[in-house]
Amino acid sequence: MSTTTQGHQYINGEYRVGRGPAAERVNPATGQVAQTLDFASVADVEDAVAAASAAFKTWSRLTPGARADHLLAFAAELGTRAADLAAMETEQTGKSTRMSREFDVPGTIDNVNFFAGAARHLQGQAAGDYAGNSTSMIRREAIGVIGSIAPWNYPLQMAAWKILPAIAAGNTIVLKPSELTPGTTLLFAEAATAAGIPAGVINVVVGTGREIGEALVRHPQVVMSSFTGSTQVGRRIMEMAAETGKRVHLELGGKAPLVVFGDADVEAAAHGAVAGSTINGGQDCTAATRAYVHSSLFDQFTTRVAELMDAMVVGDPTDENTDMGSLISYQHRDKVASMVERAKDAGATALSGGFAPDLPGAFYRPTLITGATQDSEIVQDEIFGPVLVALPFETDDEAIELANDTPYGLAASAWTNNVNLALRAAAEIQAGCVWVNEHIPIVSEMPHGGYKASGFGKDMSSYSFEEYTNVKHVLISHDTDTHKEWQDTVFKQR
Ligand code: NAD
Repeated sequence: MSTTTQGHQYINGEYRVGRGPAAERVNPATGQVAQTLDFASVADVEDAVAAASAAFKTWSRLTPGARADHLLAFAAELGTRAADLAAMETEQTGKSTRMSREFDVPGTIDNVNFFAGAARHLQGQAAGDYAGNSTSMIRREAIGVIGSIAPWNYPLQMAAWKILPAIAAGNTIVLKPSELTPGTTLLFAEAATAAGIPAGVINVVVGTGREIGEALVRHPQVVMSSFTGSTQVGRRIMEMAAETGKRVHLELGGKAPLVVFGDADVEAAAHGAVAGSTINGGQDCTAATRAYVHSSLFDQFTTRVAELMDAMVVGDPTDENTDMGSLISYQHRDKVASMVERAKDAGATALSGGFAPDLPGAFYRPTLITGATQDSEIVQDEIFGPVLVALPFETDDEAIELANDTPYGLAASAWTNNVNLALRAAAEIQAGCVWVNEHIPIVSEMPHGGYKASGFGKDMSSYSFEEYTNVKHVLISHDTDTHKEWQDTVFKQR
């Protein structure tokens, strides 16, 4: 297995050397160059789309059971490569090996297994007679070649979330991973071929968003753009997709609130807040970023969160003791640090963290901010780092209003033992997911997707098939008369 010697494009079941420029990939936890990549050219995108178009002709005609068998073999193959996948995921992102091994890789394999089963439930809408003397039925059909673009925060899982519903439904795909983290996506495609998935069903092109991402979105034979990334780029994708009138699916940024109501178990909420805000270095679109805490619990909650954050081990991601590895790059770490500095300049305080430790990689300490205002940048804008801002509230109405007061709507959590309050928060918080007494767990069986500026369409679960299929009505008349009753309203029988 290699992602270094045979080229860094995966087209038609094999590695190819990209015809674009060379680029260095840096291990963000060490600052050292880990790999020199050959980027794709637009001609490579053409080849990948051509391979996917050719593969579509046969892959889309397989029975769901045959596709499911392929996916089950794929899941088994990934299992044999789990250690390599985890090592590459850590090397390219700086996240802890513990996280890659226990979370990213098993989550990906579970997703493959889920879609193997889901593929077989896709068809089979009941038939009925709605027009009289006829049978109406529904066909769910694959739509063609999907062009997907993925981010760097969970490279393997984000690729899986895009690829699996697409191919389980009979489509073929060309995916562009983030140029910072293509390694595990290439290994994923390689494992698919080794498991017997036909050449051309999964293709990976590696290059910048501006050149290769845009070429993929604009390609006339790509029928749908499925994107996970920032809200800003998502809007640009929509504009470009409009040029060829293609379907778009957008999973965008987040600014998840965590609401601690007056009756909550503070200890549980503090633990949930620390795990939920520092997971993956806070580079998680559903990470807890704003804690709204009832004023009666505010001091207790913030003191405990600060204690727990202070105790976290930040450093070498390959050390089993490490809780949090590095952020994705120095540039991103500096963006996080400068947002925290601006909040402090405006009067906020860091009760924990608020600085980069003295280590060679792109590290940042878990950070708890108090004293910020609701309209400040650090409360309103996505930070994508291990930073939680805590703000007090007085009434339940106020808490829900504040939780909804950002442009985003991806996820939220409510902490309470009052069932009425839990149900009210679940109904009134505008987000694609509301957890109660929990923050973060995502499961293959349940949909993931945003409201508002967090995008539209669903990843995971059978709901994702809505994005990746066409629904066709087929009506078969049982009436053999040459002229039907309804036709009299159009022209008289003579
Ligand atoms: P990004 O938007 O900068 O890049 C995402 C992908 O888009 C990359 O592959 C990039 O190369 C590509 N891209 C950039 N400009 C492009 C263009 N003009 N045309 C086509 N493609 C282009 O995001 P990122 O920094 O890689 O990831 C972080 C963002 O992703 C955060 O905003 C985060 O919230 C979001 N995210 C959302 C979800 C979700 O499920 N909603 C999941 C993970 C990450």
